[in-house]
Amino acid sequence: MDVEQKIEALGESAQFDLCNACGAATRTRDDLGRWIYPTPLPDGRLVRVLKVLMTNACEKNCYYCATRASRDIPRVSFQPEELASAFDRMHRAGLVDGLFLSSGIGGGAERAMDRMIACVELVRLRYAFRGYIHLKILPGASEAHIERAVQLAHRVSVNLEAPDAEHLMAIAPHKDFRELIQPIEVVKRLIEAGEGRWAPSGQTTQFVVGAAGESDQEILSTTVRLYQELRLKRAYFSAFQPIPGTPLEGLPPTPAWREHRLYQADWLLRFYGFTFDDLVFDAHGNLPRRADPKMMYARTHPELFPVEVNRASREELLRVPGLGPKAVAHILRWRRQGALRELADLRKAGAVTERAAPFILLDGRRPPHQLSLWDE
Ligand code: SF4
Repeated sequence: MDVEQKIEALGESAQFDLCNACGAATRTRDDLGRWIYPTPLPDGRLVRVLKVLMTNACEKNCYYCATRASRDIPRVSFQPEELASAFDRMHRAGLVDGLFLSSGIGGGAERAMDRMIACVELVRLRYAFRGYIHLKILPGASEAHIERAVQLAHRVSVNLEAPDAEHLMAIAPHKDFRELIQPIEVVKRLIEAGEGRWAPSGQTTQFVVGAAGESDQEILSTTVRLYQELRLKRAYFSAFQPIPGTPLEGLPPTPAWREHRLYQADWLLRFYGFTFDDLVFDAHGNLPRRADPKMMYARTHPELFPVEVNRASREELLRVPGLGPKAVAHILRWRRQGALRELADLRKAGAVTERAAPFILLDGRRPPHQLSLWDE
């Protein structure tokens, strides 16, 4: 198999590791069939990232995974030099700006990490690539490997897949939840010791949503602890899709709206000053489908609304459905030059006025609005 065919095969396998492919980022393939993902960086830039596995050979048997050991698929591996030089050619040809490298665990975690790190060292040192690299840390990686990974990569990640040991047991019984948390703790310590030089884009994780019977409440509770205690940059949520030839092939797929609600709640936690206790869950501990988490919050806190747009604090404005951080920044700036009186003023600020109108006052008056017949 030549290098092009390997990139095709191992890029396809890598699509199941979704950490770089969320939100606005959708997968594209150039005319050679390479797997490239537009990926937003923390500073807002969008880079084209080649997402690929070092190998799809794995000795583990996670129930949800397309590359699990007992699945009958062709196994393909790169040599470190082979992938490093292929990436260098793609970069020099202007096809990609970054690399996301993960791997199956073939021959043990140490060997798999050795090969990934050898590849990234070549990319950095021999090919002098200074751009974005996201490196996966495999379960069972040594502290020495983790340290080298944070020195080489902009971002590293350990996939937790489930919010706790009990749910992990249901989808990956050979994995130990504590052994997945430990490398996250090591990465946190190393990033702090590196004082901004090591893994400057921080670390992330991913959850498989809906395969283990876990609730959104359980996923978000763990997410908040990871943000607060282990300084995780962000969590990714991947709606479970059954894969033929795996023990979970008969399970229904998780609907996309559930993944979407989790991202909306996560956004509120990271950018809107919401706390876990502000989130509204249904009787099963899930985010309701009928309205987004911010709308649910506003409807269940009638005592806090309406807020006067011309006097409310930034924090109060960010609680209003339809007002995002950019719109709030405009409102705060513009109202210094005079009162905002019309919905049109808010619209110019970037607000979604149909959503905001029931929850605000404009210069003491309720703006006209229609009761929504449909939830979103
Ligand atoms: S360890 Fe990773 S690649 Fe291997 S079966 Fe589990 S999820 Fe798949």
